Amino acid sequence: MTTKAMDLTTYQPKKDLLKNKIIAVTGAGAGIGRAIAKAYAKHGATVILIGRTVEKLESIYDEIEAAGYPQPAIFPLDLETAIEADYQQLVDAIEENFGQVDGLLHNAALLGERTSIASQTVKSWQKLMAVNVTAPFILTKKLLPLLHKSPQASIIFTGSSVGLKGRAYWGAYAVSKAANENLMQTLADELEETSAIRANSINPGATRTQMRADAFPAEDPSVVKSTDSLIPLYLYLMGGDSLEINGQQFNG
Ligand code: NAP
Repeated sequence: MTTKAMDLTTYQPKKDLLKNKIIAVTGAGAGIGRAIAKAYAKHGATVILIGRTVEKLESIYDEIEAAGYPQPAIFPLDLETAIEADYQQLVDAIEENFGQVDGLLHNAALLGERTSIASQTVKSWQKLMAVNVTAPFILTKKLLPLLHKSPQASIIFTGSSVGLKGRAYWGAYAVSKAANENLMQTLADELEETSAIRANSINPGATRTQMRADAFPAEDPSVVKSTDSLIPLYLYLMGGDSLEINGQQFNG
């Protein structure tokens, strides 16, 4: 696998980096997913906005449309309760409307209970695994045929520092993020010689969102970096400048 990535401190994406690309983003209604969905649209992509809260998806849809970027599409999906048939419906609708998929950003996640393994409830563990692990697996599996239709598709998984090294009281969240890294690596290895699809992961690092505020309620949000500061890295891994990059983990 290729290990050399571009120096992202100097990365200048082309304005039309994602022109004519169809890119699906989960958790597109808030936080990092919202900022990145808008950035992808700004660089020419038709963005498929996936999330559970329709009003939030409508609000980012309106923002993208008002900015004059390519018209996005909204697909409401609750990743906690969705069954295989719901994913199939989503994939069928994408195929009917767009024919192929060029990019997939697995961004949606739950933080869940911040507690010890001993105190973690089975119910909250299962809920978190459904959203953070099972959903990216099913969505990837179901979208692979449409990703194969793209001449150069990119899948981005979202990790976390606690997924790279477990930490006390981060419970199911940490385990779920480790699973995302491994899912990315396994998939990237399978796709390496056999397809034009690449898979990589991003650990955004501390970023000013609701999830960060929930995890660190005593922290002053103004000292935490903005979602917009992550845009160059997410553009780089989604666009044609990272074609050689597969199976790699990046920090935001
Ligand atoms: P956020 O502000 O809490 O946004 C999470 C997104 O996931 C929201 O759009 C949310 O939708 C969606 N989501 C949650 N449960 C869902 C479900 N059942 N079905 C569909 N969508 C669901 O979090 P964020 O900070 O932007 O996090 C984005 C990603 O970065 C996550 O994978 C997170 O683990 C990772 N991350 C964040 C940080 C950080 O400091 N912020 C650090 C490391 C990693 P609703 O708004 O409708 O609930």
